[in-house]
Amino acid sequence: MATPPCAGEAEAVTQARTTDFDAIVVGSGMTGGWAAKELTELGLRTLVLEAGRPIDPSRDYAEHRAPFEMRFRGLGDRRYVARRQAEQQRSVSFDEVSHRFWTDDVDNPYSTPANTPFDWFRARQVGGKSIIWGRQVYRMSDLDFEANARDGIAVDWPIRYADLAPWYDRVERFIGVSGRAEQLRQLPDGVFLPPMAFNIAEQHVRDRMAQRYGRERVLTIGRVAVLTEARGARGACHYCGPCQRGCITRSYFSSVNATLPAAQATGRLTLRPWSIVRGLVYDPARRRVTGVRVVDAQSRAELEFTGRLVFLCASAIETARLLLNSATREFPGGLANSSDQVGRNLMDHIKNGGASGEFAQWSDREVIGQRPNGIYVPRFRNIGGNKAAFVRGFGFQGGANRAGWQAALRAPGIGVALKARLTQLGPWTMAFNGYGEMLPRPTNRATVHPSLVDAWGIPSLHITCAWSDNELAIHRDMNVAAAELLEAAGARNIVQSTRGPSTPGNANHEMGTARMGRDARTSVLNGWNQAWDVPNLFITDGACMTSSGCQNPSLTYMALTARACHHAVEELTRRNL
Ligand SMILES: Cc1cc2nc3c(=O)[nH]c(=O)nc-3n(C[C@H](O)[C@H](O)[C@H](O)COP(=O)(O)OP(=O)(O)OC[C@H]3O[C@@H](n4cnc5c(N)ncnc54)[C@H](O)[C@@H]3O)c2cc1C
Ligand code: SF4
Repeated sequence: MATPPCAGEAEAVTQARTTDFDAIVVGSGMTGGWAAKELTELGLRTLVLEAGRPIDPSRDYAEHRAPFEMRFRGLGDRRYVARRQAEQQRSVSFDEVSHRFWTDDVDNPYSTPANTPFDWFRARQVGGKSIIWGRQVYRMSDLDFEANARDGIAVDWPIRYADLAPWYDRVERFIGVSGRAEQLRQLPDGVFLPPMAFNIAEQHVRDRMAQRYGRERVLTIGRVAVLTEARGARGACHYCGPCQRGCITRSYFSSVNATLPAAQATGRLTLRPWSIVRGLVYDPARRRVTGVRVVDAQSRAELEFTGRLVFLCASAIETARLLLNSATREFPGGLANSSDQVGRNLMDHIKNGGASGEFAQWSDREVIGQRPNGIYVPRFRNIGGNKAAFVRGFGFQGGANRAGWQAALRAPGIGVALKARLTQLGPWTMAFNGYGEMLPRPTNRATVHPSLVDAWGIPSLHITCAWSDNELAIHRDMNVAAAELLEAAGARNIVQSTRGPSTPGNANHEMGTARMGRDARTSVLNGWNQAWDVPNLFITDGACMTSSGCQNPSLTYMALTARACHHAVEELTRRNL
């Protein structure tokens, strides 16, 4: 298979020969990659500034490394991790190999109130979190876009599903999404590659749920940004498993695997890793940003780049930090912050509720390969006649598997009997894990810390974020609802989750810190992701989200990014910017 140029090879073109560009994109992750692709393909000479290191898949990806080839057999260097990555290690995807794709907590500190922790998972490298993400992709529907207005909560989204649908199509066509069409109002279908197969237990649960609940509660295969058919230089997935360590066949979507190479192919991309944007430069006379101030992460040199458009794609909380750290005389509370909403309305998804159950059947069947995907049960609470004692709802992710030798680890044993037991597979077990919607609240916010700074002297953040009674009610209901589904499927030994609600941030879905809205007085961005206060400034990462839905959100960020890029270039062409 021919290998296309990759973001790591872009190292050679990182040293910008000019400091003036048509567009500047801050961040090279999920949304920055999309901004780079769209802006360069629309003809703009685009500079992508990335705080972290370059990535070269042939050197950095390690998904095929076996535990016996790892120094700590996959468990990681605990002393190093405790010293440098104490926060990041709380992610389920953090391991001995993937830890290199996570931020160093000592260089990049933040604080929280003592009794209100927040897990801020970050990835500082070309590709950002798109290298380590779980790749689950779901569209939002008008149930979500109309939710705030319907419930009288926060502010109304300035767009509806019809505004975003063509952009979802565009993104899905490019990234490659495998999934099944289900014709559900709350979870619009997309442009799908062939779905991954259910295993026998999942197919059984799907069928039994259909018998009991009809179309009200549906179990579908996860919609996942992984190729099930080869596409150009990207190969079909071969089910090797540990995707959080990279993917040398580029089967899953990341900016390194797909959008950055597309941008590079235009000849109009300049990608500069090791470039920490510390602030935006604002011209009050023109009400425009004129560029960005950068500190070179390695040499610590201070640099400045200019551009006619600036796109912030640094991830929701970093983008808020950048705005708050770019205060001017006109915007003493942070650039583009006349509404006082920058940093507020921080959201994640609540998780850790659910249940698991066993099946006595199919002892002659086992799982072959490591499918990088699970099942999905779209939200059913507060839809149609299914009313709950809270607003909004949750979806279930999960899947079925046969317990393997790991199950025997907890039981006492020794010698031949233990070895024999380790070769026996356990029963089929099905698990449902809930992801619940979080409501936007102005008190959940990030503010600039009065004294804490990062390793480059840039002020860090203080993050205050807590669940409300609504989210806690959602969390409790996940257990009840998951047990109901397992009972309907005929499972035995059903066990509800005993885990308390997740720590905010732990679901990896930070969003909302520079929300879109219909009114400049109550929102930061208009319906085109354009800052009300600074028309040539666009924010398209999760900061822009007005509500969180309960779906994994990155597909929506990507679609909003593509849409905003086209609008920005049209406005530039009309000389409105
Ligand atoms: C373990 C895990 C699993 C996930 N699973 C899913 C999933 O299944 N589905 C889903 O929808 N989402 C998932 N997510 C979330 C998803 O990864 C993020 O929503 C997405 O990556 C956000 O895109 P982004 O462009 O805003 O940020 P990122 O992809 O994080 O990219 C931001 C980039 O900006 C850079 N940057 C930050 N500050 C600066 C600065 N000042 N100057 C220059 N560069 C800067 C960073 O280094 C980074 O490279 C998961 C995340 C994690 C960690
Ligand atoms: S399981 Fe598939 S997507 Fe994941 S690393 Fe392996 S080939 Fe890539």
